[in-house]
Amino acid sequence: MGMQINLKSKLALISASALALTSCGAGNAESSSTEGKPQVLTTFTVLADIADNVAGEHLEVESITKVGAEIHGYEPTPKDVAKASEADLILDNGLNLEAWFEQFVEQTDAPHEVVSEGVEPIDISEDAYAGKPNPHAWMSPVNVQIYVDNMVDAFSELDPDHAADFQSNGESYKDELQTVQDDLVGELSTLPDKERALVTCEGAFSYLARDADLDERYIWPVNAEQEATPQQISSTIEFVKHNDVPAVFCESTVSDKPMRQVVDATGAEFGGTLYVDSLSEADGPVPTYLELIKHDADTITEALTGGNK
Ligand SMILES: [Zn+2]
Repeated sequence: MGMQINLKSKLALISASALALTSCGAGNAESSSTEGKPQVLTTFTVLADIADNVAGEHLEVESITKVGAEIHGYEPTPKDVAKASEADLILDNGLNLEAWFEQFVEQTDAPHEVVSEGVEPIDISEDAYAGKPNPHAWMSPVNVQIYVDNMVDAFSELDPDHAADFQSNGESYKDELQTVQDDLVGELSTLPDKERALVTCEGAFSYLARDADLDERYIWPVNAEQEATPQQISSTIEFVKHNDVPAVFCESTVSDKPMRQVVDATGAEFGGTLYVDSLSEADGPVPTYLELIKHDADTITEALTGGNK
């Protein structure tokens, strides 16, 4: 409780000084921002890419967290607060993804929209998070179609003159999402019954595992400050040994050290890095959300069928 108050007053201070800063430099700062387009901020890079597809050329979309950032426990900077104060709309994922967001958004006047509204959540079954919704709903392209509908509504309210464009951008992006979804399910359906276990660091694949009928296992349920516990690692080792799992994976935004321990103890292959909580840089393997899904489906399929040996 005491900590929360401290954090709040700290944020208030940050925001006050940030506001002071921006009003001092307003003349110069304004001219460098883009020619009068409404500014939309998202909490992470994956949402920014999806939003960009819906916004087309009409809105300026930017992510608060940068490529590779840990998004669950992110600590907003004074710059973030200043930027958010100038935004016309902020999009967050919701489902408890952004632990920092509620206090952050209280510091600004910008309206915000939860893009996962209407998604059927899958609950986390283990540890301290048991019974809470798994936040990684975007790992199902079908869920992202709902994100898109929510964005079309929010953008149309923000910029009614371009509502028809948002609608048609949204429809064509939803078609692309459906294609990626069908490919994903088709590709992963080729895995033999014995090799349908998806073992990752974070429990970020519940939605994808449901869609593709995989058996999901993970070292820890949701990224948090503490490292994997010895118990979490040993129960993953047991599962991999017991089920003869050929390959295991880890996500790009966390250390793969605990999973390397599982590899050493079991002889399973390290199947590769999967992307969930962040895109890559533009010249990396997953600069867009659609590429992220394709990359993960390919990596999982190749490693579990021994295609990478
Ligand atoms: Zn995550």
